[in-house]
Amino acid sequence: MNADVTAKRHTAGRHAATAIAAASARLTRAGVESARLDAELLMAAAAGVSRATLIAGGAEIDTGAAERFERMVARREAREPLAYIVGHREFFSLEFAIRPGVLVPRPETETVVEAALDFLRERERLADLSVVGAVRERPSYPTATVLDIGTGSGAIAIAISANAPGVRIVGLDISKVSLEVAADNARRHRCADRIAFLHGDCFAALEGSAPPFDPFDLIVSNPPYIGEAELATLAPEVRDFEPKVAFEGGRDGLNFYRGIAAGLPRWLAPDGEVILEVGAGQAEAVEEMMRAAGCAVGARRRDLAGIDRVVRSRRAL
Ligand code: SAM
Repeated sequence: MNADVTAKRHTAGRHAATAIAAASARLTRAGVESARLDAELLMAAAAGVSRATLIAGGAEIDTGAAERFERMVARREAREPLAYIVGHREFFSLEFAIRPGVLVPRPETETVVEAALDFLRERERLADLSVVGAVRERPSYPTATVLDIGTGSGAIAIAISANAPGVRIVGLDISKVSLEVAADNARRHRCADRIAFLHGDCFAALEGSAPPFDPFDLIVSNPPYIGEAELATLAPEVRDFEPKVAFEGGRDGLNFYRGIAAGLPRWLAPDGEVILEVGAGQAEAVEEMMRAAGCAVGARRRDLAGIDRVVRSRRAL
């Protein structure tokens, strides 16, 4: 009898709690840091119940759920990202569909969304000040245009749109799979009529459209920024499963920022802002590029780990 069949027989008919404990031990041995949490989330997905129900204890699993759980645990044991196995990931309190071929959105990228919403709120405040004594009917934010370069699952674009419904967004990506997933996520979150997804290589994706795009009020990006030296240090989840095009940033990790800086004179509106996620230790070099592109650099933002994560630059009028 092969090991797989033995494992299935042993798992079937158990309490979920027993199976979770055994899976957690396996995942720990495989080097998964959040082994217990992952085992619980896999069981919730396999059994179709909430994690809270599982934690409350006493849940029984039938043979079908036990088999699904076993297959999922084996994939996680091989260090496949949890989001690819369960098919979704939460970002900015919204659930995103995720599948292989698409970068799994990271918590630190929420810092980009926070900075973007601050910029849009500030525009709103200034617009209010300029309307003296007038009553205006409009959405909660003024119409601003936003470009999300390398939109991936649509995480940044959709989180902005869900919180700033008056904004028009273009999300572009070189990966067609990502654009399919992003469009699906936009429909889920009822943003599809406010976000256009375009296929192409950075700003080149904007060329040739009719009518032509105007320069954008806000450009955001979480570009690929891992340098060659860092590639060897990546966790297996990233190195072996996530798309290289989503994280490889060339020799020093800064290639993509060079391309963005080069496109700013054409694609950033006067007084527009650029909000870029950067890797640890990259903020200064990226700020230097933004200055060289004619921008004034604003305050950096740190992520929850205290790392300078977001560079903000404003184009001089
Ligand atoms: N914005 C998403 C997020 O934060 O979760 C994905 C960010 S991921 C780090 C970078 C994205 O850039 C990937 O989706 C990748 O396909 C895309 N990308 C890579 N090279 C590109 C290029 N030359 N033009 C457009 N998009 C590109």
